[in-house]
Amino acid sequence: MSLREQLCEYGRRAVELGLVIGTSGNLSVRQGELVAVTPSGVALDRLTPEMCPIVDVEGHLVEGELQPSSETPMHLAVYETTDAQAIVHTHSVFGTVVATTMTELPPVHYNALLLGGTVRVAAYATYGTPELAANVRAAMAGKRAALMANHGGVTIGATMEEAFEATRLLEWLCEVYVRGLSVGKPTVLTDEQLNAVVERALNPPTFPRRR
Ligand SMILES: [Zn+2]
Repeated sequence: MSLREQLCEYGRRAVELGLVIGTSGNLSVRQGELVAVTPSGVALDRLTPEMCPIVDVEGHLVEGELQPSSETPMHLAVYETTDAQAIVHTHSVFGTVVATTMTELPPVHYNALLLGGTVRVAAYATYGTPELAANVRAAMAGKRAALMANHGGVTIGATMEEAFEATRLLEWLCEVYVRGLSVGKPTVLTDEQLNAVVERALNPPTFPRRR
């Protein structure tokens, strides 16, 4: 699948799964110095490959008739300081709930380790601004995900599939936390418990074959 086809495919999935509504949310995928990004003002389930602009990592428009997403500076800032090859940004409900009420999402489930443990909430700034890009870049340091105060969430991956799955996981973790709060006080896993998970993952059990 070409970079632009990936944007169409995963844009459609994001809408189907209710991770974005209307023209909110944006995706990008990188190859070398070029980044294909979703255009401004088009719903993610209405994209065609030709609609998706291609920019270089410095933000110059290389190909395409439509303007790149207004959040492109944020995508480029994250590419600059991480090993990301794809980025997904949505205004998913539970991610946005956490981002409007908290300063971080604590690890209440061990799968949070897949996103780097605690997920930081980037300080608020107006959408599309260099300030927001800088805040997200800072919140993303050493992580695969960040939340954006009063705005939404963003995840990265080595592939578009990975970045997209990270967004689904982030939303699931936020939902578990928010629903947990309505029942009681969610227990946060300790560093020791999280280290034990990493240890376990590195040394999976083996099952001897029955003779
Ligand atoms: Zn947004």
